[in-house]
This record gives sequence, structure tokens and C-alpha cells, in this order.
Amino acid sequence: MKTIANFIDGRSVAGHGEKFENRYPATDEVVSVISGASREDVDAAVNAARAALQGPWGKMSVAERVVILRKLADGIQARFDEFLDAEIRDTGKPVSIASHIDIPRGAANFNIFADQIATTGTEAFEMSTPDGAGALNYVVRAPRGVIGVICPWNLPLLLMTWKVAPALACGNTVVVKPSEETPSTATLLGEVMNAVGIPNGVYNVVHGFGAGSTGEFLSNHPGVDALTFTGETTTGEAIMTAAARGVRPVSLELGGKNPAIVFDDADMEQTLEGLGRSCFANTGQVCLGTERLYVQRSVFDEVVERLGQKAKEYRFGDPFSASTTMGPLISAKHRSKVLSYYNQAREDGATVIAGGDVPAVADHDNGYWIEPTVWTGLTEDSSVIREEIFGPCTHVTPFDSEEEVLAMANDSPYGLATSVWTTNLSRAHRVSRQIDVGICWVNSWFLRDLRTPFGGSKRSGIGREGGIHSLEFYTEQRNVCVKL
Ligand code: NAD
Repeated sequence: MKTIANFIDGRSVAGHGEKFENRYPATDEVVSVISGASREDVDAAVNAARAALQGPWGKMSVAERVVILRKLADGIQARFDEFLDAEIRDTGKPVSIASHIDIPRGAANFNIFADQIATTGTEAFEMSTPDGAGALNYVVRAPRGVIGVICPWNLPLLLMTWKVAPALACGNTVVVKPSEETPSTATLLGEVMNAVGIPNGVYNVVHGFGAGSTGEFLSNHPGVDALTFTGETTTGEAIMTAAARGVRPVSLELGGKNPAIVFDDADMEQTLEGLGRSCFANTGQVCLGTERLYVQRSVFDEVVERLGQKAKEYRFGDPFSASTTMGPLISAKHRSKVLSYYNQAREDGATVIAGGDVPAVADHDNGYWIEPTVWTGLTEDSSVIREEIFGPCTHVTPFDSEEEVLAMANDSPYGLATSVWTTNLSRAHRVSRQIDVGICWVNSWFLRDLRTPFGGSKRSGIGREGGIHSLEFYTEQRNVCVKL
């Protein structure tokens, strides 16, 4: 069995906090024992990150950092199979997903933010002065300092490097708190950091839980200059409260209850292919996934039937097998939560079109499996339609008019993402800008250009990351005014 320690100041350091086990979601077997970080360990990590700002890292040019970022991307690719194995054992996700999305995108984030920092200039303004001599203003970008990075478990390496890469590109140092469910790839990345010669203390990892544990120690630590977080909305509120002490910047990528809208003129093949992914990919554990589907009445029956069929085509099994298309949920606890909504849907009188239960999976009896599920027949006030479930399930509601569907789509405390399916160009533009979300896909889903602003409206988050928007968060802009 693997033992996982913290990574502090360039070294693997056994934690003095809670020891805990991590289980393989496909079998419930214990795969690693983690020594969590105590408050003192978090202190040591933050101090190491602070000290590193004063060392060679703080003096490096952008060009030098760009070279290092590219080496990090190469370093992950060079150990691709180890990252892949670690990610699958932590999450149980199928190799087809982890090898095409998690690990390659986890590596690519370093190249993307290397490109971004290498090509981004700053503003300059010439101004006139009463004596006629004039003045020149220009802006310098200063790193914010020590960044606390708190991550979820659904796309562990990818979502962590989405924050670590721009933070390092901008010259900051980081202390990462991965999810207690997925400690491995963040730890492995420490080895890559050492291999490419990143100075000690620039990248630190502390393990443990959230409230009353490592996450709270980190977010409350006065030595952390800014906090970036991806996870649940209620956790985001706790992190924002912590950030208020010391008036520290915070970036929050939070939960969602994403609608998708299908008009009767949609290309049905393309739509069903997209919906099949947006409702069920990664066992529904994608923040951008569709849990509320609205379909124009004349194509309602067809969409419901074909989506139900898609749900039934998923194949459970060994996550390391190329033929497995659906993995288990992350934990027994999460499955209980998802199942409670499956039961609620039945109690509320839903018609179960597909799924709704726990499947039997040969040789993997103890895994946290769940069937992809499609319901109809609930009213919009049902908790199944209002609350984030974070499982492979969606409810389908019919609609008649654009006004009606816009009202239903926007009637949510969340505002992360949506997709609109139509071949009517005017309608696509008209509808997409009226939905209160951070990202609206038209005739696609999860098509990501990483230069675009990513984030949520309403209770789905604060701030935008991606491209230049990440540089806005991970640097502070300072104006220099030179009298000529
Ligand atoms: P979570 O909020 O339970 O945990 C996320 C991280 O926060 C973990 O590392 C956890 O240990 C830590 N944490 C928990 N309580 C804390 C506290 N009080 N103080 C400090 N740290 C604390 O979320 P999760 O279950 O890991 O992830 C699923 C959630 O993440 C879903 O709501 C999903 O929508 C959301 N998510 C959002 C995005 C996005 O980009 N908007 C992306 C992925 C996931």
C-alpha cells in the first residue's frame, strides 16, 4: 500500500495531523494511507512559500519562468503512465477519460499559461501636464505572493494545475490543499517540480480535510496572500469568510445546476451526442454537467426516449479497461447523497425513463456504482431539479415558448453553464445571452478555449480564470507614473 506525505519546501514530509485512508472507488479497497498536515505543518508550508519568494524564484525573469513551465508540462508527459495510474486509483474514472482529458490537460495547462505570460503586455498611457513636459504611465504586474490553492476531487490534476500554472507563471508561490479523496497526483507533481529544478518552497502540498482541518488551517493562515478555490458553494462561502480577514483576494469556482435547452429545430444526432456526454460524462461528476434538461414539446418524446437509450448503453467495469465507459462515484458517502436524490425523485412521483438504481458490476461488487438516470414528470420546485446532485442524472421538462424556457432556466440560485441546441442562428444568439450563466455553449458542450473567461454567475462563483483573466487574479497591477 502507498503512503502519501505532504510536500513542503521541496521535501516529502510526514504530517503531524490526522492519518487517513484513501479507497479505490471501483472496489472499495484501501489504496493509500495519508499523513495529514497539522496546523504547524501548514505553517511550515506557508513559511517555505514565503521564503521562496525572497530566493532565486523571486528574481527570475518571465522568460526563465516560461522555460520552467514548459519543462513541467514535459515532466508530466514523461511520467504520463504514473499520473494516469494515480488518478484512476484515486477517482475510479475510466482510462478513456483520464488518458484523454485529465492527464493531457493537466500537463497542457503549464504550456497554455507559459504562452499567456510570454505574450501579455501591460497598459501604458501618455498624459499631458500643465508645464507641457508630459508624463508616461505604465503598469507593472507584481505577483500577489503566497497563493492558497484548495481543490476538489472530480478532475484532480487538471483543476489543480489550472490554478497552479498561472500562479507560477506570474511569479507567485503556492500551497496546495488537494481533496482528501484525491491526494496522489498533487503529491506526484512535487517530484516533477524537483526534477525540473523549481526552487524549494515554490510548490507545496498539504493533505487533510476541510472544516476544522487542513483546508481551514490554510484558508485562515495570515501568511497566505490570496485564495483560489474550486468546490461546493457552501465551502466557497467559508473560504470567502476566511479571505475577508486580512482583505485578501479570492477566486471561487463553485457548484452548478446547469440547464440545457433543446429547440425543435435542433440537429438531433448532434444534440443527443452532446447531451449524452453533458448528462453522464465522468459519472456526472462535472461541474458543467447538465442536470436540468428543457425540451420543446414537439420533440420531447423523441429526446426522452433517445437519451434514455444512451443512458442504458454505458458500460461499467474495470476502470483500467478500454471498454469501460462509466466509472463509479467518488465515495460511498457521495453515492448515498446521489441515491437520496434518486429516492426523492421516486417519492416526488417522477417517471424513471432509465436507471435509478445501483447496478451489479462483475468482479467489482463493492465499488460505488450508480446507474445513469433520466427522469420526467417532476415539478420545477422539486429538490431534484433545484439542488446540485453531482451524479449521472438529469430531469427532462417540456416547454412551449422561448419566454417560458428562459424563465425556467434562469430560476436557479446557480449560474455556471448551459447549452442551447438549435439550428436557428438568430434564436441561438438571442437565447444564449439571456441565460444568467458564465458559459453558454451553442450546439456543443465542454468545448473549451482556455483563453476565455471561465467562472460562474450567482452562487456559482466569483471572478473569472483562464487566459488573461487568470493573470488578473494572480498578479496585482501597479501603476508607475513618470514625469518627463
Ligand atoms: P468541496 O467543497 O466539498 O471540497 C473542495 C475542497 O475544499 C476540498 O479540498 C475540501 O477538503 C476543501 N474544504 C472543504 N471544506 C472546507 C473549509 N471549510 N475550509 C477550507 N477548505 C475546505 O467540493 P468537492 O465535493 O470536492 O467537489 C465537488 C463540488 O465542486 C461540486 O459542487 C462542483 O460543482 C464543484 N466544482 C466546481 C467547478 C467549477 O469550475 N465551478 C469545477 C469542479 C467542481
